[in-house]
Formats: sequence, C-alpha cells, structure tokens
Amino acid sequence: MFEIPYGRQSLDSRDVEAVRAVLESEFLTQGPIVPLFEGNLQAITGAKYAVAANSATSSLHLACLALGLGQGDLLWTSAITFVASANCARFCGADVDFVDIDPKTYNMSMDHLEAKLRIAAAQGNLPKILVPVHLTGQPCDMKRIKELSLEYGFKVIEDASHAIGGEYENEPIGNCKYSDVTVFSFHPVKIITTGEGGAALTNDEHLASKMRSLRSHGIIRDKQSMKNPMDATWYYEQIELGFNYRLTDIQAALGVSQIQKLSAFVSKRRELAERYFNRLDPERIILPFQMQGTRSAWHLYVIKVNKSQHSRVFETLRQSGINANVHYLPVYRHPYYEKIGYNIYDYPNAEQYISEAMSIPIFPTLSTENQDFVIDTINNLVKQFEVGT
Ligand SMILES: *Cc1c(COP(=O)(O)O)cnc(C)c1O
Repeated sequence: MFEIPYGRQSLDSRDVEAVRAVLESEFLTQGPIVPLFEGNLQAITGAKYAVAANSATSSLHLACLALGLGQGDLLWTSAITFVASANCARFCGADVDFVDIDPKTYNMSMDHLEAKLRIAAAQGNLPKILVPVHLTGQPCDMKRIKELSLEYGFKVIEDASHAIGGEYENEPIGNCKYSDVTVFSFHPVKIITTGEGGAALTNDEHLASKMRSLRSHGIIRDKQSMKNPMDATWYYEQIELGFNYRLTDIQAALGVSQIQKLSAFVSKRRELAERYFNRLDPERIILPFQMQGTRSAWHLYVIKVNKSQHSRVFETLRQSGINANVHYLPVYRHPYYEKIGYNIYDYPNAEQYISEAMSIPIFPTLSTENQDFVIDTINNLVKQFEVGT
C-alpha cells in the first residue's frame, strides 16, 4: 500500500558498513566507539561533556538524578511534549506540573512560565528543575529561561530530542550555554538515529561523571573516588544505585556514521520546509511561526487547520496514504496523569493546539513528487471542508 510516513530514518551503505565493522570487532559494547560518538557530539555542539545512553528517556532520567531530583521535589515541563519529558520526574519520585504553550511557537510560553513562577514563589512550591522542550526542532527562548532560572533558583534540562542540528542565536543547540544539561534522542524518527539511543550534554564535570556512574550501575573505577581502594587491577566499587542505561558500540557506530550527515539532513529538512511555506494555502492553513534568531532542525512540520475541519482533513489524509500525526496529546490528558489530577482549564493554548494541529511528512528522503502530492492533497482538503460548506 502507498504510504508516506510523517518521518523516518535515512540510512545508506556507509551506515551499514560502520555497523558491520563493529560486529566484526572485539567489542560490541563498552568498546571505543561510544567514547568516539560522545566526542563527536561534543565537537558539533561545543559542550564540554557528552554522556551517551540507550535512549533519551534514560538520559532525561540520568540528568534528573544528577541534579538531585527526588521525592518532594517538583519538575515543570511543557504541556505539549512527549510523555518522557514528564516521566523522568516520576522515575525519581518527584511531582510534575505543566506550563501552557505559546500559541505561536507551540513551545512553553514565557508569559505563562513567568506568571506561574511568581505564584509558586509566593506559595513556596517552586520547581527544582524546568524542562523546556524545543518542539518540532524550534529552540525555546533560552535567554529568558536562563534569567528566570537565576531569579527563581531552578535547574534547566533542555529536551532537545527534536533539535539536534538546530541553532539558537547562531549557536548550536546542545552547547548548554543557557542550561545545565541538554538531551538528544536518536530514535529512528528523529534527526539522526542509533536505532534506540540518546545523549546528555553538559559543561559541568561533576554532572557528567555522576551521569556516567549512574548509567552503569553506580560503579566507579577511578581510585581517587573509591571508598575502600584496593591495590588490584580487577577492583571496582559500586558507590550508589545506578542502572544499565548504556548505549552499545553497535549503536554508537551508526551514530558516528549518521552524525557526519547531520548538516546535510538538516539542510534537506529546511528545503522541504521552505517548499511547504511557499506552496501550502496560507489563507486556510496556519503555517509554523519561526522565532527571530533561531533556526529549527525541522524534526516536525506542524500545520494548523480550523478546528471544525481538523478530523475530516486528518482522516482523509490518512485514507490517501499520507500518515499525518498529532504531536502531542497534552501530557496531562493521558490517563496516568489525569489520575494525578490536572485542570484542563489551566492550559487553554494547549487545548486549542490539540484541536487544530497536525504534523505532515518531513524527512530527508521525501521526494519532490511525494511532497507535491502531500501539498496538493492538503490544499484541496482544506478548501473542500471549508467552514460553512
Ligand atoms: C522522542 C522524544 C523523547 C524520548 O526519546 P527516546 O530516545 O525515544 O527515549 C523525549 N522527549 C521528546 C520531546 C521526544 O520527542
């Protein structure tokens, strides 16, 4: 059946060769390729340390633990994000609250954040960690977030799962200039892939070593940090309770190969976005708004159509083989979070967004012919289902 997904991986024979080379080498895991991949991530972002893990979800968990999040603490994130941005707090026994989105960028709203912080400060329940999410690949207002973090004393983890290759103020996302940690995802629908995988970047040596230890059972091998150092080469110590969140060398080899193509992937995504901007019907469709001083990595291309025609347009697209998607149901609407108890009236912008938004295909191997089919189909549908007809 003819189907165009909203996103998919782009692999070539060099990727396959890179993975094969590891399969035929000495180490499938804990070999030299994970540190090599981490070095590549440092090089492209400018961050001092990179800690790879088996998913971005694990990286978010490691970052929260390293920043000391625990029971009785609060983490705030955006109302519109993938559940993992919130779940990382629950893994630590902490509570989660959500900030409504900006109706134009769909990122966390700075006005709502500021108002919410003011109230929280008065009530004595400020968050310990804020997780801004660069939704679709468009950077959040990081300067403002940094100012607020200094004023209110919270830590910042950028969830940049959509945004590797994006730029904020002419600098790469992931340099952690305005945050404590930045997390990337290498799931196949994201910009580059390792099959499953993620990474946490930071400029803080202490956070990096803490995340490294927790990634591998809480085990350390460096004598200086040991409690009961022993003069034997086999000796290591578990000093805290960690996990096995390691990325394999097989996966890292794919990452090393993919990261060489990062800028080509992002350029191609920008070209596709440009074609959508030029050809989609601007009278009937709300096209993505781009904040000044930012360059999106274009993980997603989100359009908005009138609420009254959203489900008809969406379902007809799917019937035509165009697998549009919606990113995302507001996190507080998932039954797990609903049970904890949030008030949907606190999030008017997220509620409006979910009734109008859809992600349409954007990935480097999307052909011009298929993109034109997507464009024509959408333009026809929004006209056909116009309000009042
Ligand atoms: C994909 C994604 C994650 C989780 O990534 P995994 O690597 O699949 O664990 C977290 N946050 C956001 C915003 C994502 O899109």
